[in-house]
Amino acid sequence: MTEASQATRGSGRPGTTGVTPRWGRVVLKLSGEAFASDSSDDTIDAHTVERIAREIAEASSELGVEVSVMIGGGNIWRGQTGAGVGMDRATSDTMGMLGTVINALALQDALERLGQPTRVMSAIAMSEVCEPYIRRRAVRHLEKGRVVVFASGMGRPFFTTDTPAALRAAEIEAEVVMKGTHSGVDGVYSADPRLDAMATRYDEISFMEVISGDLRVMDLTAITFCKDNNLPILVFDVMTTGNIRDALLGEQIGTLIR
Ligand code: UDP
Repeated sequence: MTEASQATRGSGRPGTTGVTPRWGRVVLKLSGEAFASDSSDDTIDAHTVERIAREIAEASSELGVEVSVMIGGGNIWRGQTGAGVGMDRATSDTMGMLGTVINALALQDALERLGQPTRVMSAIAMSEVCEPYIRRRAVRHLEKGRVVVFASGMGRPFFTTDTPAALRAAEIEAEVVMKGTHSGVDGVYSADPRLDAMATRYDEISFMEVISGDLRVMDLTAITFCKDNNLPILVFDVMTTGNIRDALLGEQIGTLIR
């Protein structure tokens, strides 16, 4: 495919392994806290970032998956934190968005040290630091085998990075939003498995069941957006090594919402 405008769902490049993955183009939503580690006090744990980066790089080069990442900022700042102590919400959210840029640069650095070309595209213009988000350019990067890291979410306060992950996925015609969890809950359950030993994990569930059951796996705005745009969400544990690859290959990992 040579023209960004001709991108279709189901695209992807030939990988080096000859294996055909289930998903050809994806948006991986990573929480900022996925970059932290129990074994260090660092806001960004270099080993953890490298581990995730390695999996992303392998998905891109070996499987030929066109991988983009919407990175959160919760390890640095969340707008709600400031709003809760009286800060102006929009200012506090802007601080949160700037936190996502820090994480994006950390991920780009880790990916490029592994030899994986990567572009950070920010929804808030900061031309000295990274590219602005331009849809057609993002698609072009993916077609060329670059990983694209989306920073600054939507570029607007009053959102988290869940909704822009869904929005970018629709814009670039990704086939799935992969929502990586880091809390130990590896999918969508009938109840909170940390509180209820009888809770069972769904392999697959409908958008309506998630919405009507108030199963809080992602922001409701993001879930509704995905439902309206026929965009599946795969909720899976991103902290287990190998899960990104297995999920891309279509193995039974986590819960598919569609
Ligand atoms: N944020 C925002 N608009 C966006 C995306 C993020 O205002 O489009 C702010 C918001 O304050 C949010 C913070 O950035 O709390 C960090 O993002 P998020 O909470 O999604 O990070 P995560 O929990 O995924 O690490």
